[in-house]
Amino acid sequence: MAEKETEIYRELVPYFLHWYDYNARILSWREEPSAYHTWISEIMLQQTRVEAVRGYYDRFLRALPDVKALAEAPEEQLLKLWEGLGYYSRVRNLQKAAKVVCAEYDGVLPADYERLKSLPGIGAYTAGAIASIAYGIPVPAVDGNVLRVMNRITGSREDITKESVKRTLFTELLAVMPKERPGDFNQAVMDIGATVCVPNGEPHCSDCPVMHLCKAFREDSWREIPCKPAPKKRKVEKRTVFVIEWQRRYLLHKRPDKGLLAGLWEMPAAEEKLGSAEARARAEELLAGLLPGELPTGRLTALPPAKHIFSHVEWRMSGYWVSLSGNSESAPPERLGESYVFVDAETMQERYSLPSAFTAYVSEILRHEREKERPGATSEENQKG
Ligand code: SF4
Repeated sequence: MAEKETEIYRELVPYFLHWYDYNARILSWREEPSAYHTWISEIMLQQTRVEAVRGYYDRFLRALPDVKALAEAPEEQLLKLWEGLGYYSRVRNLQKAAKVVCAEYDGVLPADYERLKSLPGIGAYTAGAIASIAYGIPVPAVDGNVLRVMNRITGSREDITKESVKRTLFTELLAVMPKERPGDFNQAVMDIGATVCVPNGEPHCSDCPVMHLCKAFREDSWREIPCKPAPKKRKVEKRTVFVIEWQRRYLLHKRPDKGLLAGLWEMPAAEEKLGSAEARARAEELLAGLLPGELPTGRLTALPPAKHIFSHVEWRMSGYWVSLSGNSESAPPERLGESYVFVDAETMQERYSLPSAFTAYVSEILRHEREKERPGATSEENQKG
């Protein structure tokens, strides 16, 4: 353990706690800081901004107020509650862990750092946050924000993406955790990282309680710290998305159980950019497979392109609206095999979780629906194409 760093950390603890007394952010999960509340909020906050999480958190807690409710929730409800937050494996792990907590800990998250860390989806950071905030156990919670703040203070130029760097910081902070207020200390560092020593742009050093201790401030080196390797270039994937409509019902496809957006619903798509003739042929091929013998005639209209950025992949999407006019009096069957459904817009929104990658095409459906509902609209004037 580096003694010099530990000494600096020891010195900054009272400044951080004093700052927190006057500047703590008001967040709903802090009002009743139970282990369950801390857990849900911390998982939601991974890779998502606080402002975006607020509404999701309140809705999630209303629907699933405790570990037991989470363990027993149907998957579709769970995914629907998470819709728009992305990284759906997080919510699946929440449920897996909830089942373990019900089976092994009587529905109460264990007040033990190592046991928390052994639960699915709970890493060192989340275990530290739950243990310290909900149970007052003096362990640190080290994430990218904490690494940024602490490395700026000490002037460390170590690569913060290395596990060994994270582990060293954990050990150094563990030695100085205030026994009386470990949760407040961790939350103070989180809040300073979010509002003062910010991740993007210039830190607000004049508002920082440890400016006098900070090497990055003295040396004006905040731009170079934290150090990490340049990000890898994202892979670009082209896709053609089909909004297939029959009698104001829309065709959805369930993605495979493994891989990107595993098990979520989407509009059917081809994994390449298609011109309109190829798109028509591809849509007809898909429909012939799903509705043998009763292929309705489709009209095809190009939709505006859309883009979605995942952490390692970027989707560049072209879209086509396929309006099925054949068999116009009858509604399509709701289920088509294991992985396709035809549903109206309301059911789509209430029951099926479509990832935000498809927002542009969901908006097209909703716009189309509004047009259809408009007083005086006729079926003819609102037909696509
Ligand atoms: Fe960050 Fe500035 Fe505070 Fe140093 S003084 S920790 S750079 S905000």
